[in-house]
Order: sequence, then C-alpha cells, then structure tokens
Amino acid sequence: MFETLFRKHLHRFLLGKTYHGTESSCGYIVNDIQTIIARMQDAVDVVLTSEHQTSRVAACIFNPVQPEAAPFVAVNSRPACLKGHLEWDARLGASSQFIHAELAAIAGFGGDLRGSHLCVTDPFCPNCAKNIAESGVRTVYIDHKGFQKDFIARNGDEFQSMSMLVAERAGISVYVVNRKEQTVTPIREFVAQTRPSPSAIEFFDIRDGMTLEKVIPDFKTRIGTRESWALAFIREADGSPRGLLVFEALPPGFTPADFKTRGDSDTGKYRFPIDPLTRLLITVKRMGFTIPDGRVACGRVPSSRALVNALGFGCKSLIVASRACDHDPTGADALAFLTGKELLKLEEI
Ligand SMILES: [Zn+2]
Repeated sequence: MFETLFRKHLHRFLLGKTYHGTESSCGYIVNDIQTIIARMQDAVDVVLTSEHQTSRVAACIFNPVQPEAAPFVAVNSRPACLKGHLEWDARLGASSQFIHAELAAIAGFGGDLRGSHLCVTDPFCPNCAKNIAESGVRTVYIDHKGFQKDFIARNGDEFQSMSMLVAERAGISVYVVNRKEQTVTPIREFVAQTRPSPSAIEFFDIRDGMTLEKVIPDFKTRIGTRESWALAFIREADGSPRGLLVFEALPPGFTPADFKTRGDSDTGKYRFPIDPLTRLLITVKRMGFTIPDGRVACGRVPSSRALVNALGFGCKSLIVASRACDHDPTGADALAFLTGKELLKLEEI
C-alpha cells in the first residue's frame, strides 16, 4: 500500500535519472553521496523526538565547503517559552506553535548558510521553500520515505506548484535520497543559484547618539504603514555597527510581473511574499551579523507565523511602530498573548 502510494506520488516529480553510490556525475552538487546519506540519517535518527503528535519532521544542515562547521540537526519544535502556557496543538493566532524543522535548522546552524545543503525527512512546505531560498541554502535533499506519508498525498499539489516553483526560481537543486538503495535522484538540478535578493534591504549608518527610539519616527514618516518593514541595529562580522531595514519581498527570482495575470500572489493558505520580520532574522543570520541589543522593530504588527518564527530565532523584544496588522489580522491576538504572558517584551513607538 505504502509502496503504491509512494510510486503514485513520487513519479510525478522525478527527472528520470538517478545517481548511485559509485557515481558523482553531477559534480559539485552531489559530490559525496555517502555524506548526503549520512546527514539524512542524522535527521532520520532524531525525527521521533519531535513533540508534534501527528507530523514529525527533521532536518540536518551542513556546508560541504566548510567542514569545520558541525552539521546541525533540528526537528519541528515549539519555542521553549511556550511550553507550560499552551497545549502542544493549540494555535497561536492563526499559526501552529511549531517552528518548522527546516527553519529551526537554518536558525541554529553555526556555519555559513550560503552554499549550505539541507537534508529533510519530508517534502518542504511553501513557507519553508521561501525561507530556504532567503537563507542561501544551495541544495535540498528529501528522504524518499517522506513521499510515502500522508502529507504528500494531501499536499503534493502545493509542493509541486509552490514549494518547487520557489526552489526553481532560486536555482536550488532538489533531490530525493533513498538511503537503503544508496541513491540520490534529482527532482530539479541547477548549476547556478539566484542569490537572495539584496533589493528591499537597506543599510544606514548609526551616528553617535542615534537610538531606535529616535530613528523609528523618521521611518514611520518616510514609509508610514504603506509597506511592511522591519528594522534593527546590527553588528557586522567585523564589529561595525549598522542599521538594517528590511521590507517584505518576493522570494529570489520572482518579480511583481509574475503575478500580473493572476491578480493575486497567493495560493490558498500560503503567500508568495516573505514577511519582513522573518526575512530580517534570516538576513542577519545569512550575513553573519548579530543584533547586540536583541531589539527588532516592525512597521506593523507581525503575522502570527512571523511571531512564532521570531521566538524560534530567540527574539525576546519587539518594537511596533503601528497597531496596524500585517497581512494576518490574528497577529494582534498572538502578540497580546505573548506580551500578556511576558514571553515577549513589547514597546510601542
Ligand atoms: Zn515547512
């Protein structure tokens, strides 16, 4: 039964060629099949530790050109601060409390995200596709057993029409790994990757005496609530302080013209744009920055999903420049819950 389901759902996605353990014919992209299988096994080994009762997913991230950086394994998990306040399956606003394994792996990795590889036990959802594209991950491997599960039977169309579309536009190669047969089979394969977009990201100098409290009113005046933005004072890898302003943006490789004929850039429960708060936190990580004071400012109240992701990145303090909600009106409920329980410090400017 499972085998039939697997063949029925997987064959739609494959390119029709397979790399075996003895080959490395796709050069840099799959240069060490044994390593890929071992990293996938690392993810599979921990997947049952996920607290989720119905959908357990694990991911392992590594960077082959940076062997000194230890691979990092993560499962889909709730931010620790939520435990004791909510049942595992309670919603926070419109969002599940769980940070997806892929984003948890990206958030926790100690190495360079740019050019990294990600092994995942299951086909990735559209939101993870966007986060993966934004992070600079170059290649994603999916365990073939992930295609046997109920998820892909229910969400195979979303995987194909949105997750894979996002990966394709970003030039991210995606493979299926069969650990038992020691094979790596491409779904999409690219030589060049579209870099995460530097557009809709602005840096500014922090002059003496400049504080978030002083600059936010300027940005409010300049941008208002027309666009969705997030801002932080960051420190670059060499220690220089800078201001970082990030707007909501389409994933790498997309332009607004892509949506001209659709009239709507969303499909069902997923949107194509990446919200600015998640985007800022991924950008900080990708570029090797830190946020010394831990404070992030948002032009609008973030979506409930963005708030869960921010907790996953260790965010403890949020400044909102307006009570207007971003695309998700339940963000206000989620924010009220988090601040009421003192899980997130909120400042309004
Ligand atoms: Zn996901």
